[in-house]
Amino acid sequence: MTTKVGLISLGCAKNLVDSEIMLGHLRSAGMELTADSAEADVLIVNTCAFIDSAKTESITAVLEAHRDRGLHRRRPDQRLIVAGCMSQRFSTELTGELSEVDAFIGLDQLEEVAPIVRRVLARTPGTPPEDLVPDHLPVYIPDFDTPRWRLTPKHFAYVKIAEGCNHPCSFCVIPQMRGKHRSRTIESIRREAEQLVSEGVKELLLISQDTTYFGMDRWTEGRGPRAQVTSARGENLIDLLEALSSVKGDFWIRLLYTHPAHWSDELITAIARLPKVARYVDMPLQHIEEGMLKDMRRETSEAHIRGLVTRLRAGIPNLAIRTTFIVGFPGETDAQFDTLLGFIQDAKFDRMGIFTYSQESGSRAAKMPNQVSPAIKKSRYRKAMATQQKVATQRAAALVGQKLRVLVDTPTSARTEADAPDVDGKVILTSPLTPNEFAEVTITGHKIYDLIA
Ligand code: SF4
Repeated sequence: MTTKVGLISLGCAKNLVDSEIMLGHLRSAGMELTADSAEADVLIVNTCAFIDSAKTESITAVLEAHRDRGLHRRRPDQRLIVAGCMSQRFSTELTGELSEVDAFIGLDQLEEVAPIVRRVLARTPGTPPEDLVPDHLPVYIPDFDTPRWRLTPKHFAYVKIAEGCNHPCSFCVIPQMRGKHRSRTIESIRREAEQLVSEGVKELLLISQDTTYFGMDRWTEGRGPRAQVTSARGENLIDLLEALSSVKGDFWIRLLYTHPAHWSDELITAIARLPKVARYVDMPLQHIEEGMLKDMRRETSEAHIRGLVTRLRAGIPNLAIRTTFIVGFPGETDAQFDTLLGFIQDAKFDRMGIFTYSQESGSRAAKMPNQVSPAIKKSRYRKAMATQQKVATQRAAALVGQKLRVLVDTPTSARTEADAPDVDGKVILTSPLTPNEFAEVTITGHKIYDLIA
């Protein structure tokens, strides 16, 4: 009988691509995928451990899977595999704590998932979990022909251009889970893009921990944490954007997760002249105040960021900038928060997300004195969001009456070039349009974050 496997994917788009790769390998091995976790022989939970709440969500998902098995909402002999960032980082501890799990696997084992599924099926039920996570940081990176079963709608796909991160941000534990930055080759990514566009994809979302660092890991010199994207040093993001722009077809290339330290005028000019690259930049800034940036070890400065936002807007007409900030980082004073609030007011970001600081064990910031109380974090979060809501409302109102090109997600909902799926707003369509296609619409109204057309 064919083995049936179900998978619960948690966390970010990078984890989603890992899920897609595991599903691709399971299918190549002749296994059946099921969206009904109750009928799966083996259930895989692909976890996230970015912040504490993500860890809690991951553990809850694992425990729920086990509880449902006990309550016979799922097959009692169903096996459970835990994959992803949480497993990579905490498998040693979790093996002792989550006896309901059959195996913990790491980020380097995406391509070994089918033999691992067979291995857990052969286990005697009730035996203690196996910790199969290798004893080193991950080095894996996919290729253009890596089997993949896409979980996104037909018209957009995430393309992982690199993996890992070389930055030392003091609040972040991602490099401890995902390892050093390693870029794919341009040829590998171009071939993947060609395939995706030929399958009807209209939007390629380029992702990694730091997309601006693309190619720099192969440079022989000058590839430090403040290195700027330049063709003088070697293959870089500009070469990749040019190669992807040469793929035939009508599609957007969207750049997610860029780091402010690496932006250069050369990159700005390149985006301005490449029409397939969406006029959209996702650039998590985390803070603006000099002392905070230093304590966060962001390897950039207030002056650089302020100048960069101005240069981006001047260099790329109609650009939408998306950013995220952290409030309540250890030691953040009222005055430092007010500087951030003023910046949010003045810079008028098109899209913005706020995180309250989360104290991650194993990070430098977790050991810092002057941790900010939850009440202050919450109040700063509310103030920052309220400030941005005013900005967002003004920006949306300014678009009323304009004709915009949109990508239609469902008959009644679309996105402009300024909106990435899942994280940004949408265009609510008053008359239905054909999904998965581009269309031109006239904006007739707005809500806070969404437009009406
Ligand atoms: S750039 Fe900083 S926040 Fe982003 S993944 Fe790297 S270390 Fe973490």
